[in-house]
This record gives sequence, C-alpha cells and structure tokens, in this order.
Amino acid sequence: MATIAADMISEGKDVINFSVGEPDFNTPEHIIKAGKKAMDEGYTKYTSGAGMVELRQAICDKLERENGLIYSPSDILVSNGEKQSLYTACQALFGKGDEVIVFRPYWVSFPEFVRLSDAEPILVETISKKNFEPDFSDLKTKITTNIKGVIINSPSNPTGGVWTSESIIKLLKIAKEENWSIISDECYERLTYDRNFISVEKLNREHKIGARVITCMSLSKTYAMTGWRIGYSAGPLKIIKAMAKIQGQATSCANSIGQKAAIAALSGNQKCVEEMKLKFLRRRDLIVELLNDLSGVTCSIPDGAFYVFPSFQAFLNKKVNGKILKDTFDISQYILEAVSVVTVPGDGFGAPGYIRFSYATSSETIINGIKRVKTALDKIT
Ligand code: PLP
Repeated sequence: MATIAADMISEGKDVINFSVGEPDFNTPEHIIKAGKKAMDEGYTKYTSGAGMVELRQAICDKLERENGLIYSPSDILVSNGEKQSLYTACQALFGKGDEVIVFRPYWVSFPEFVRLSDAEPILVETISKKNFEPDFSDLKTKITTNIKGVIINSPSNPTGGVWTSESIIKLLKIAKEENWSIISDECYERLTYDRNFISVEKLNREHKIGARVITCMSLSKTYAMTGWRIGYSAGPLKIIKAMAKIQGQATSCANSIGQKAAIAALSGNQKCVEEMKLKFLRRRDLIVELLNDLSGVTCSIPDGAFYVFPSFQAFLNKKVNGKILKDTFDISQYILEAVSVVTVPGDGFGAPGYIRFSYATSSETIINGIKRVKTALDKIT
C-alpha cells in the first residue's frame, strides 16, 4: 500500500493518507531546544549503555508520578525507541522451543519479535465487541508448558482498544500461575480518552499477584518524538541486566541527544501532551461518526491511541469493476486506486474484515478522506 501510495504521489496525485503511525504534530519547542542545547554543550558521545543516569532517574520520577510505580535507575534500560526495548526483551526471555502468546489483532511486529528470538507466536483471539479484550476461553485451549510469555498492548495498535482492569488482572493471574513473563507494550499510555490508564505492573503490584512484568514505554507517541528514537523498559533487575547485555552488543547505547531531549520531555511541562490528546480526541469522535455514516461500515469507539478499526465485512466478496473483493487487502487497494486514499488492511494484523484508519491527521483531511471513501464504496455492488 505504501509503495503504491508513494508511486501515486510521485505521479502528482492528491493522496490522502490514513496509514500514518505517528502524531502529525512537531516535537514541542522546549524539547527541541533541549536537543539543540545538548549538541552545543557536547553531549554528542556514547553514554552509559543503559542510558544516562539523569534520564533513568527522570524515568523513575515519571513512573512514580504518572503510573504509581516505584523503580530505581538500575531497573531501567533506555533504548533506541521502544521497538528496540520490545525486541531486546524477547531476545532476553525467549528461545528455541518456547511459545509466546500474542493477541489478535496484533501489531505486526509482535509475532516477528517472537520469531526473531527463535520462539513461536501463539495467536489468541480477542472479542471485538469488548474493546478487543482477550477471549479467555480461546486462551485456555492454547495453554501448554511450552508457553513462556505473553505480550500485552493496551491501548492497542491497530484497534485503539483499551482493556479493562478486570481482564488484565485475570491475565496477570494466569501468567503468575503458569510462570509466564509478561511484556507490556504501553507506548500509547498517555492517549486514553474515556478512562484513566493503569499500567499492567501497577495492577500486578496493587493486587499482589507477583507476576513477572517487563513494562516497555516510549516517548515517540506521547511527545511526537518518533524520529528521536527513545524508548525504555522497566522490570526485574535480572531481566533488565540481561537486556542491557544484548543491547550493549547491538547498539552500545541510545542516541545521546535524544536522551537529553527525553529528560526535558519527561521532566518538563506536560501541557503539550494534554493539548495533543485533546486534538486527537476531537478527531477520533469525528472519524468514528463519519465512518458510521457510511453504509456497510461499522466502527466502535476506541478508548485510546490514534487508530480506529472499523469493520468492512459487508463488502467482502462483493464486486467492483468486474473484480471480487476477497479480503481487506483487495478493499484497501481498491479504495487507494479509486479515490487515492491510503488505509491499512486488517488482514495484515491478523484481523480479516477490518481496516485500520489513523486519525493522526487534520480534521479537514479526515472529512475529505472519508468523503472519498464513500464515493468508492458506493460503486461496490
Ligand atoms: N509499540 C506499538 C504498538 C507501536 O505502534 C509502535 C510504533 O508504531 C511502537 C511500539 C514503537 O515505538 P517506538 O517509536 O518507540 O519504537
């Protein structure tokens, strides 16, 4: 899809892009200033492998202030983006013969992180009507002694769904009983709209469950810092140490200028986060309303992130331009070719019948884009 879209743009076509996985805002000014200052002051060298102590302390302060979690800097590993945190956690925890639970729909990288550690992802269903929370009856049928871990991502990419505390507690208890490690990807933690975010580890501690949780977080989405590449993990010292050893060989440390900027982001005024969130909330409500107005499309209101995940099941096996639309790859491709709108087919996330729309784009673009989608859908018979 991205390749076709790029070709269309180079041909001068007016393409509307709903596939973006990053905020459309620039990094807030005070964070950019901190990056510039870091360069001027010579913070252009390797840092401690686990991250500058000052940054790891700022992360601990943030985890205590926002998530109610007490950690010390030695429990923290700063990485080149949370993607590296997640990859490294899988490398440290899993190996050949192991299996790891991944919930479907999944962010495309999760099964690959597991496979890159020589383990096998085990896909477990979720319930679309319940914010894509785990289908525990499916989970039960898949439990074996080979399973060594589970990946949680709430708020979720691609669904935007936020799991209830009850579901997370239930999963934490199973993980404790089965001795699984939990990797909790919380990169969209600051983007929840209708309920307060609660960290998986917070529930683990509050309910004295004692499961093994590695929390991975990112500055990318919260502070519109995707290109600065700063993410981090917090977890049991032994696991963090193992992850630091792997990361040290792979990349030495995270980018020093980004680390300095991250200190400014985490310790500075958080008004910028609230402002971005408010804009996302307005756009979410707009895109959900417009999508639900389309005949044949149903879209629930996701509680978090900046994605909606409407169902296009009504268009499967329908015909347009003499061609049968057999899956969402076909539907997305048709929409792109017919009206130059880029969307992401749910089949790629293990969710046939659904299409992901990112609303990290202006309200005007959302209105125009959905209007175009309507024109395309009206031609399907
Ligand atoms: N986890 C999820 C679910 C994501 O959607 C992304 C980025 O799109 C990441 C992790 C990675 O974020 P980072 O930019 O910190 O590597």
